[in-house]
Amino acid sequence: MNQKKTAVITGGARGIGKCIAERLASEGCKAVIIDVDEQAASETAAALGGDAYSADVSDDSSVSETVDRIIEKDGKIDILVNNAGVTRDSLFMRMSEEDFRRVLDINLTGVFNFSRNVVRKSMIKNRQGCVVNIASIVGIIGNPGQANYSASKAGVIALTKTMAKELAPRNIRVNAVAPGFIRTRMTDKLPEKVKQDFLSAIPMGRLGEPGEVAGAVSFLVSDNSGYITGQTLVVDGGMVTG
Ligand code: NAD
Repeated sequence: MNQKKTAVITGGARGIGKCIAERLASEGCKAVIIDVDEQAASETAAALGGDAYSADVSDDSSVSETVDRIIEKDGKIDILVNNAGVTRDSLFMRMSEEDFRRVLDINLTGVFNFSRNVVRKSMIKNRQGCVVNIASIVGIIGNPGQANYSASKAGVIALTKTMAKELAPRNIRVNAVAPGFIRTRMTDKLPEKVKQDFLSAIPMGRLGEPGEVAGAVSFLVSDNSGYITGQTLVVDGGMVTG
């Protein structure tokens, strides 16, 4: 059995998830990367001395099989970071039902699928575990053009609170991190005007770095947050307060 803590990061092949995987690996965890992008997942995992599994979080049978394989190899899962997420933006009035459902399926049902399998098959048995769900500030304040995405992230925050209450007696903590605008490939590509509008709305006057989201996750899976569960830690340079 793997003696290190096993940390599973969904959508860990690139972006914020990759940075979280790097951070947890640097702190002594074995990083297990789950992603639909098989090649990128393998490259990220190889660089961290971890493992990669190709799975779509919205497909419960693929999630179930993947979780079985991880437990067979590592014996347990100590940390789960539900980070996989997508956007399919358009104005609410023009949004197709398909785009609404697909974003909910990945961003919200995906968190349910992965958490339920990991909690049932490992964390409950070991009477310990930490789950961190990556939400977004738009799940708190909404955002034009993101009806599907903001609804999914609001759902993630509510799911986090309920899981925390149900699982606290089993010594399993469940928290969320809600990033604001983080410098990733997605935000790099935005037109200069849009970037300037974002910046003027951020009290700290700059985008966040993926490492600053990873730092919040690191805190929430550490003993420093041992009495914290059901919370949403906002990482946004001061946009959402209270
Ligand atoms: P990204 O697109 O760079 O990375 C997302 C990863 O998830 C990719 O590797 C992708 O292949 C994977 N993925 C997508 N669908 C999947 C599926 N069905 N099953 C498994 N893996 C899947 O995105 P990012 O910017 O790094 O965002 C990571 C998380 O942070 C997301 O949940 C996102 O909603 C959230 N977030 C990002 C920002 C931001 O500014 N970038 C802000 C708030 C919240």
